[in-house]
Amino acid sequence: MELLNQFKNFSNVSIFLAYNVNVDALKYLADSSDIEKLKENFSDSDIGLKIEEYPRTIEKPIDFVARLIHAMKSGKPAEVPLKNNLEIEPFFNGLNYNEERIGGQVGIISNLLSILNLKRIIFYSPILAKKQAEMFENNENLVFPNLIDGKLVLKKPIESFKNDELKINRIFEYKEDIEFHLQNEKIITPRSNRFIVASRPENLRIEIEKGLKNHLPDIGRLVDCAIISGVQAIKEEYSDGKTAEYYLNRVKEDIKLLKKENKDLKVHFEFASIQNTEMRKKIAESILPEVDCVGMDETEIANIIHVLGYEELSEGILKYSRIEDVLKASKILLERYNLEGMQVHTLYYIMYLCKKGGILSDKSLEKTLEFATILASTKAALGQISNVGDLKIGLEIPHNKHGQLLKELVEKISKEKELEDYRIILVPSRIVENPKSTVGLGDTISAGAFVGYVSELKKLKNK
Ligand code: AMP
Repeated sequence: MELLNQFKNFSNVSIFLAYNVNVDALKYLADSSDIEKLKENFSDSDIGLKIEEYPRTIEKPIDFVARLIHAMKSGKPAEVPLKNNLEIEPFFNGLNYNEERIGGQVGIISNLLSILNLKRIIFYSPILAKKQAEMFENNENLVFPNLIDGKLVLKKPIESFKNDELKINRIFEYKEDIEFHLQNEKIITPRSNRFIVASRPENLRIEIEKGLKNHLPDIGRLVDCAIISGVQAIKEEYSDGKTAEYYLNRVKEDIKLLKKENKDLKVHFEFASIQNTEMRKKIAESILPEVDCVGMDETEIANIIHVLGYEELSEGILKYSRIEDVLKASKILLERYNLEGMQVHTLYYIMYLCKKGGILSDKSLEKTLEFATILASTKAALGQISNVGDLKIGLEIPHNKHGQLLKELVEKISKEKELEDYRIILVPSRIVENPKSTVGLGDTISAGAFVGYVSELKKLKNK
């Protein structure tokens, strides 16, 4: 409880967030009949062939069904981009969705931080349609930067929307233990998780409009930290000839501009699943050197390490989830990109790896991770965090049963020679048995841990 009181109020922290806001359309897959309905227009053998082909974009309904079943079989989270065309749009529009709500890492994190009473949250998205704007918390602390007569004016999202195209991601949340057949194979979902069909409108470009970009140093002065996310939406090439390099360079410029007049500004990069391996490498190599902290899940860290040439380590993480391997991978990234902190979350734990010598105590870092697990368990249990009082629900959920063992393991590993220059902080997760939703849990964890970190740093500095 003391912990909650301490973090109930982040009113000493202001943050800038960019670049992704969208609407999430959620469909819950509760039992086998839901799967059979999706499968019914295709033969099992065609689906089986598609699964082997493993399409990395969704262009036809069968691509979707194949990747969905592939994901459900593994129980791991997955996100695959949609290639818009005349056949696929009506197909997705024709499915019945259970719920629509705000999505995109910036959308999810903005609302969460608004509820956690941050001093000010300035969020940016290249598109802000009315429907998106209406899904934001209507609080004084949550604002969007507008350019009016050349001046920077911060206004509530509901006063800032434009006539923009709407970006909708379709999210399929499935339950544990759904049983169905594909050809002769019996598939049982090993756990509940989600499969995301991500929309990638051609007109959506991941950049800050020019007039506002000139004001980024001003925004940088107004905030203590920033979270950059959504670069996974950058395409390799656009119809006007612009390339991924062009947009990645814009993002790098934006980070530099934010820090230009505020050298203490901390930047966190929130990773996401990136199917295209070339793009995954480009994003890692261009953005990670520019930021201070990174948040990833186990699959994401394995995938990055893979494109950097550590195939064996990557496959080991994906197959066995050994914490030693996750630490090895974290150390590689921390060193390669000179990061201040690497945060990895898995189903069973949240962990920081950082160099020895930081100014925050182990206890203080642990508290920030503990807070992050409470946010996650609250959101998993309720689907959504609506006010700070909700966090009591998450606090009541105990650490998972492997927690103690994990802590002991990490204590042992941290004494090993190759980790003697590092600090490792691990907090076990509080697993909710039947989560209402798993969308945005990773973003919630990362945002909570990072803002907690910045808040603790500020408290120390002001002492
Ligand atoms: P991501 O894959 O980045 O969205 O992160 C998902 C994270 O959410 C996991 O690593 C866990 O820490 C947490 N999580 C997932 N499922 C649950 C659950 N049922 N209860 C509590 N936390 C969960």
